[in-house]
Parts: sequence; structure tokens; C-alpha cells
Amino acid sequence: MTCFLCTETQVDFCRHCGQEFCASHQSKLNNKLCCNCVSDANLETQSEPLIDSDGVTHQGRHIRLIGEGWPNDIVTIASLNDNELEEQIRGLQALLKIAIQTSDYARISIAARQFEKGEREHSKRRKLMQRREELAKGVVRLASQKPATAKPKDDTAKLAEQLGITREQATALMKLASQIGGPQ
Ligand SMILES: [Zn+2]
Ligand SMILES: [Zn+2]
Repeated sequence: MTCFLCTETQVDFCRHCGQEFCASHQSKLNNKLCCNCVSDANLETQSEPLIDSDGVTHQGRHIRLIGEGWPNDIVTIASLNDNELEEQIRGLQALLKIAIQTSDYARISIAARQFEKGEREHSKRRKLMQRREELAKGVVRLASQKPATAKPKDDTAKLAEQLGITREQATALMKLASQIGGPQ
């Protein structure tokens, strides 16, 4: 006999729907069932926080089983002989081990990548801030380097410079000189 889904030779038949399945269309979670009756697609779970009747949240999760795969799987357990039961336990333990490894690997790898992402964002921010600081310094430098608007020196300033006196003194001196020179 061939598989109900492909042309491969059957390895067993499904205890739920009765169809013959090949090795690749056998359920990965229950070797007595086909992949249609029990698969990831119909074995969904919903995880909820554990809240007691007083409304207090406890450690752990309340897992709700959603999907027809669950009853399909559970009802076959009673029909297993001791060896089959042992075999399924071992198979599921192996599956759990892989799942835990995958979970550990994924968690660590995600964390490492998120760290790298954070570092990049931090470095971008730092560079941006550095640029802003440099730009601000540049503006200040530019302002201080800007030559003082060279006002053409007037006569008073020239006189003050020549005699080594203040502008006020020079102004007074010039006023005096013009008075001496007579009104024009
Ligand atoms: Zn098949
Ligand atoms: Zn089936």
C-alpha cells in the first residue's frame, strides 16, 4: 500500500482517520497518527499567567490546549502497549531536548544580535553628537577667528595710538586743538 498523501510505501495507518501513511507523512509527535491528525498546525497552545481566584498572579503559566490535534493525540494513548508507550515517551523526550536546545540557541543568538544592534545605534548617536559638538566648536572658532571688522582708524584713534593715550583723552585733546585753531 502507498501513502494517502504521496506515492511512498506506507509504514503504518492512522489510528484516528484510518489512512495509510509513509514515514514523511507520519505525525512527528505521535507515530500512531498521520500528519493531518496531529501536527504543529492543530496542536496550538495559549499561554496565560496563573491568576488565582483572589486575583493574585503566581509564577508559571496556564497553558490552554487549542486545536483538534490534542484530543486526536490523547485518545490514542490508552490504546498503546507498554513498548509503544515507552517508545513514544523516548521520542518525545528527544524532541523536547532538541526544542530546548533550539530555544536556548535562539534566545542567546537573538540577545547577541540585539546587543550588536544596540551598539550600532549607540555608536551612530555618539558620532552624531560628536559631529554636532565639532560643528558647534567650529562655529565658535569661526566666530573668534573672524577678523574684527577693521574700522578705518579715525583721526582720534590715530592720535590716541601715537601718544599712547586713551580715546577719551585724544578726543579732549583734539577738541582743545580745534578751539586753539579758532572756530571755522
Ligand atoms: Zn507520504
Ligand atoms: Zn489521520
